[in-house]
Amino acid sequence: MAVLWLDDIRADDLESVGGKGASLGELTGAGLPVPPGFVVTAETYREFIEAAGIDEELFEAVDVDVDDSEALAEAEARASELILGSEFPDELREEILEAYSEVGDGDAFVAVRSSATAEDLPDASFAGQQETFLNITEEDLLERVRECWASLFTQRAIYYRTQQGFAHDDVNIAVVVQQMVDAEKSGVMFTSHPSTGAATMIIEAAWGLGEAVVSGSVSPDNYHLDRESGEVEEVTVADKKVKMIKDPETGKTTEVDVQDDQREARVLSDDELAALRELGTTVEDHYETPQDVEWAIVDGDVYMLQSRPITTIAEGDVGEADETRVDPDIGSDTPGEASATDGGGSDDVLVRGLGSSPGIASGRARIVKKLDQLDKVEEGDIIVTEMTTPDMVPAMRRAAAIVTDEGGMTSHAAIVSRELGVPAVVGAGDATTTLEDGQTITLDGDKGTIREGETQTDEEREPVEEVRPQAPVKPMTATEVKVNVSIPEAAERAAATGADGVGLLRMEHMILSTNKTPERYIEDHGEEAYIDEIIDGVQRVAEEFYPRPVRVRTLDAPTDEFRQLDGGEDEPEEHNPMLGYRGVRRSLDRPELFKHELEAFRRLFSMGYDNVEIMIPLVNDAEDVLQVRSLMEEAGVDPTKRRWGVMVETPAAALSVGEMAEAGIDFASFGTNDLTQYTLAVDRNNENVADRFDELHPAILELISQTIETCREHDVATSICGQAGSKPQMVQHLVNTGISSISANIDAVRDVQHEVKRTEQKLILDSVR
Ligand code: PEP
Ligand code: MG
Repeated sequence: MAVLWLDDIRADDLESVGGKGASLGELTGAGLPVPPGFVVTAETYREFIEAAGIDEELFEAVDVDVDDSEALAEAEARASELILGSEFPDELREEILEAYSEVGDGDAFVAVRSSATAEDLPDASFAGQQETFLNITEEDLLERVRECWASLFTQRAIYYRTQQGFAHDDVNIAVVVQQMVDAEKSGVMFTSHPSTGAATMIIEAAWGLGEAVVSGSVSPDNYHLDRESGEVEEVTVADKKVKMIKDPETGKTTEVDVQDDQREARVLSDDELAALRELGTTVEDHYETPQDVEWAIVDGDVYMLQSRPITTIAEGDVGEADETRVDPDIGSDTPGEASATDGGGSDDVLVRGLGSSPGIASGRARIVKKLDQLDKVEEGDIIVTEMTTPDMVPAMRRAAAIVTDEGGMTSHAAIVSRELGVPAVVGAGDATTTLEDGQTITLDGDKGTIREGETQTDEEREPVEEVRPQAPVKPMTATEVKVNVSIPEAAERAAATGADGVGLLRMEHMILSTNKTPERYIEDHGEEAYIDEIIDGVQRVAEEFYPRPVRVRTLDAPTDEFRQLDGGEDEPEEHNPMLGYRGVRRSLDRPELFKHELEAFRRLFSMGYDNVEIMIPLVNDAEDVLQVRSLMEEAGVDPTKRRWGVMVETPAAALSVGEMAEAGIDFASFGTNDLTQYTLAVDRNNENVADRFDELHPAILELISQTIETCREHDVATSICGQAGSKPQMVQHLVNTGISSISANIDAVRDVQHEVKRTEQKLILDSVR
């Protein structure tokens, strides 16, 4: 059998049908209405290469020195030539085409996707590139199946398997062929409320194909449903001007006007809502966690096209029917049990600071003065400390919330807590002396308050404002919206935002979380281990985002951060570390260390991570850039082939970006945390002057505008990766000035996408008026 139908797949078929095939089979088996289709099995791939007599030559061709990037590229090309140049044996061809003729009416448009079978690998996606081809008909089907097979031999896949010691001829690949649904109506459904986790289903619906809703090109109807009772709680009918349909000839998606009588008509009937509720309940039960489902309706039948977990709901926040729900733990005095709530604690504000990571949480205060006290932080406790450091991250992950005495909105505590999705208040002055260890407190990461106690009674509870759900759809924008990542562990969460790439991946955490300075780390473990630390961290993010670009910034930690680490005693004493030995200055002063970072990049490129970009921090002028460029060349990283650029963090950099462009940079990215501190002479970590830390100061906006203009003249892309990129006024200024991309914090990506969209639309309207 060349193929297996989705409804015939059983759990023990994994090796034949690969991960994707098995999961579609599982969903079909669970009674979920996935569009029909079949899998061209892994055995078929084997039979094909053997019948064509190319198997030996193929495995020989890919047996190369993977550190030789030319050899690797040749291996990929030869493998693809062999597979794409070989004919199907008649029997296989007929079986696949016969199966295709049974999908839909025999001339259906299908999606063709590779499905890796090497489940023994830590990440199966390494085993084969994840190829997807849409709107395929009989004519191209066999060619696409061959392309999926060839994707088993991309440079990345060859590199990875060789590194891991897996034999190329042990790995197989299956191909999923599935009917594409020509939807009359479609949309998205959150099986639980995406912000509160309440048992309220939210359904968005529009006419035609789902792309219109997912891309944000149409305002969909919005329905709120009580998942338990099925009661339709709220219906908002939108004016739906356009819809996407499939061109019956080409299968291509095109936008057309919605006919007049449908524009303001309700898309979903009560019966259809009931059918969707049933689908949503089955999906959520199946995965045991709330899901974000893409669905479609054709001829009255509901289909599930995609389902992913909702990442915006705090753990433990699932399933209460009431949006203003009281957390089940409230009122209990179980130590260590804390949880995010919509309430606020009693009125006694014990401490105030800057609300730096949103959310409300209650728990036991854990005063941490020394690193060895971190062990006392249990799941759900609230860390109270002077200032967090990278080695506190594991404890920060356990915590329900974080309070620091020091620090501003761009401090380590603020950045990491936002990435972890943990509420935080920073710059709280004397929290470590005012709060008592073990005391139960409630922290509000929006208002910046810490109150005594864990709860308030229902009467005291203020009416909870409608919690604004994360906007569920990603609008299409001309300005790219990317995401900032500081800790590689946040990669998955960051990628789930739908961002167009990573605008800033800070390398510091990869090094500082080892708790050793780079010098000490190398002394103890050697250069190779140091390079591997960097590769591992970057690879995790580059893989998660591939092929979306990931801009990795070379090491930029001030001496006071290094001092806290093992080996820190050798750091120079500095009166003002922020103005001292950090960023590119340190890299150029210690090229013997910097070259390890460059070597890590070189290896990542030869592994096929061509989405990685190099960004240099704290440069002042073209001289800095030229020195880095020649070190890149020395390290075997070709600056004419790879994308690299600088951060604009000093007024000097802003004013000399023209010369830097001539030195060959591809992009310049505003680091407004530093650009603000250096332009206004306001220490970004000093709470005494925090009220003067104004990223929207006219001087900064002017520096930014000038830089964007100069970059445009030199064809250099511009971006922002400082925290200010998450602020609506800054977004408006940047879009109006013509920035190429904006990189925001994970929790702000959706809002920034919408702000960019609104600003771009306004620009278009203004230009035609
Ligand atoms: C910045 O300065 O804006 C920036 C993004 O870099 P960091 O916060 O790491 O200094
Ligand atoms: Mg900076």
